[in-house]
Amino acid sequence: MQIDPSGTSSLLYFDRLRDCSGLAHALSTRNGTPGEPGGLDLAWSPGDDPEPVRRRIASAAGDLGVDPRAVCCALQVHGSTTACIDELPAEDPQAPCRVWGQCDALVTGRPGITLLIRVADCVPLVLYDPVQRVVAAVHAGWKGTLAGIAAAAVERMGERYGCRPADVLAGIGPSIGPCCFEVGDDVAELFRAGFDGAGRCMMMNCRAVTIDLPEANRLQLVGSGVSPGNIEVAGICTCCRSDVFFSHRGEQGKTGRFGLFASLRA
Ligand SMILES: [Zn+2]
Repeated sequence: MQIDPSGTSSLLYFDRLRDCSGLAHALSTRNGTPGEPGGLDLAWSPGDDPEPVRRRIASAAGDLGVDPRAVCCALQVHGSTTACIDELPAEDPQAPCRVWGQCDALVTGRPGITLLIRVADCVPLVLYDPVQRVVAAVHAGWKGTLAGIAAAAVERMGERYGCRPADVLAGIGPSIGPCCFEVGDDVAELFRAGFDGAGRCMMMNCRAVTIDLPEANRLQLVGSGVSPGNIEVAGICTCCRSDVFFSHRGEQGKTGRFGLFASLRA
């Protein structure tokens, strides 16, 4: 994945997944239609005006070549619950797209359904099995990483659709990097005690403990049987590149959300 030198692309792609004819996917950035206030900010919570976000989702879906009315997001809660979307939830005039409910990984085997995960520093992951034709979109902040959401998604793909982890191609998207993700003693202790492989994704800089969340998720996928050669890591820090991506920490919490879109092509 490359940020274009001008930094003006509205959508970015994983190199290997882009070559998969059965998959449509993209990461959105801050950059929307020129002149449109808010760029491609996809932040929305129940009760908010859905219209601006509906327009931005339609814009991104149009660029991606998918049906904007078949985009389905989740109410993300930093947990380890996965949902299989084989039927779209009903349209809701109060929401900018279809909304599944509370969970942090969406999985589908149905072409035409577009999964949407929204982030601003948390890790967005796409998992694609070209053999069984199944795709997942995952939201993994530090809590979800610790709860094992990426592993839970791989497991669900296996249970529900018969996917073999060795067939899964994975993309780990832009998120806060080890350069910027300093944590307090409380989070550091939770990771040390609760994360398998903590020693390989935690470091110490001159001030604090840092956690490499993309690496933690990569280790978790490998632990689930995904081949290291099938995992692409974007290697882009959202906090360092808050010119391109929304960053919760880089903007002191006052920021929007960018999206991971993933869909099986018919
Ligand atoms: Zn950084």
